[in-house]
Amino acid sequence: MTTKINQNQNQQHLSEQLQLLSTFDYWDSLAYCHGYHQNLDKETATELELLNVFAACLTSDPDEDGDIAVAIDRRQRLTLVLARDSGSGGGPTKADINATRDLISVLTDTECDYRSRVFPVILSRCRKSMCKYMQKLHALLVDPAFLKLESAAIKGYLQRGADYLNTDQGEAALSPTDVLNHLQVMKSLSQKPLPDTQREAFDVYYSLAWYCWNLTISNFMKYLYARCSKSEQDRLLVEKLNRRLGNVSQYVTGVRKLIKTVKHYFPTGEVPFRWIDDDFSSSSSSSSSLLHLDPYADAIQKHATSSSSSTPTSPSTTAKFIHHPSLIQKWDSNRHITTHVHAEIRLLLHLSAHNARSSSSSAQHTDMAPLPIGCSRLACLCCYWWIRAYNRQFGTRWVTCGSRGRPRADWELPARGVKGRGGVETGNGAMEGGEVSVPNEQVKKIVGACLESYFSGCR
Ligand SMILES: [Zn+2]
Repeated sequence: MTTKINQNQNQQHLSEQLQLLSTFDYWDSLAYCHGYHQNLDKETATELELLNVFAACLTSDPDEDGDIAVAIDRRQRLTLVLARDSGSGGGPTKADINATRDLISVLTDTECDYRSRVFPVILSRCRKSMCKYMQKLHALLVDPAFLKLESAAIKGYLQRGADYLNTDQGEAALSPTDVLNHLQVMKSLSQKPLPDTQREAFDVYYSLAWYCWNLTISNFMKYLYARCSKSEQDRLLVEKLNRRLGNVSQYVTGVRKLIKTVKHYFPTGEVPFRWIDDDFSSSSSSSSSLLHLDPYADAIQKHATSSSSSTPTSPSTTAKFIHHPSLIQKWDSNRHITTHVHAEIRLLLHLSAHNARSSSSSAQHTDMAPLPIGCSRLACLCCYWWIRAYNRQFGTRWVTCGSRGRPRADWELPARGVKGRGGVETGNGAMEGGEVSVPNEQVKKIVGACLESYFSGCR
């Protein structure tokens, strides 16, 4: 009982800190740098990329329905294992299972035609996500900061003369005029939502995705990266552009790559899959819990002057925060939050337990072999640090597609009493313990430190 109360207090404390960081629009550059620029071998990077595409093709709207994660269980026969943020009750919905079946069916179809078979299946599940990615791309392309970078970069690119003809294998040689044309067409195609009819939607989306992909693999993109290496602000903009282009083009070029790979690994056309329903939630009543955060002024008072802080924030700085109208408004509109265990952590814990039970049969996985988890979005700040801490503790190498270092207040501390490797189940699902306690503690520490550094930078 005491453990349960402590657990709830821990979660409440952490959620308030995460919500404060979100309110301040904070991002953790360390998580971003380590998480986004990973040194992965080519095989792992490709597997991860394809798993990300698979997860994206099953995600109708990550903002409303949560994220999806997918990994491969290699213990006996290759099986896809899927998880979603546990907010919807832990297990998959009927629609999730049907969508997975439909997607696999078109990916493995021997006479698979992208336009008439694959695109309709993806569009029916992902229209909202696709439209959101188009909007985000458009917003970036018309952002004044990006336009400034674009104009300076085009000038520099022009001065290189016909250097653009010297491309490496696989690169598209775009002249400055081609680049301007690409950007112009992308701006125009991404301006409006996708048309209602499937045929028109295909024409718009396919064309947009093609331009996005061609720019991604162009020598101009390589030039942009080299040019921006010394300015952090510009580098972040170029990385954002690369992400936006990839998000749009994944439903076409990523899926085409996926089709080839699926046929290679599953020549019989049968792709076994399973959705997990163990939620690893610390909430006893359901797989998610509703928290009512303290009023804004109380939360600032509590966390800015926390006794665990090595450098307590001065009263005058605290007062400045407390009387900040837009922050108060932002906090008040997000005071009631539902927390849940994020999809990538659920999947990791599920597969760890399975691997532990059959450690002798998983000889193909040496201790440090990378274990990719594909996700529909980049990992949040807590998932990134949690997985890193878990890997350190158990000598594993779970890898995800990277992190933007952004806090999410709906992040729930996972709970379980199962040992990570070679161990046995030792507790019930509602108790924190076993392998999750060290990563949980690590996340709490890091989030506290992020908040402290934010306050101390605002003196
Ligand atoms: Zn997360």
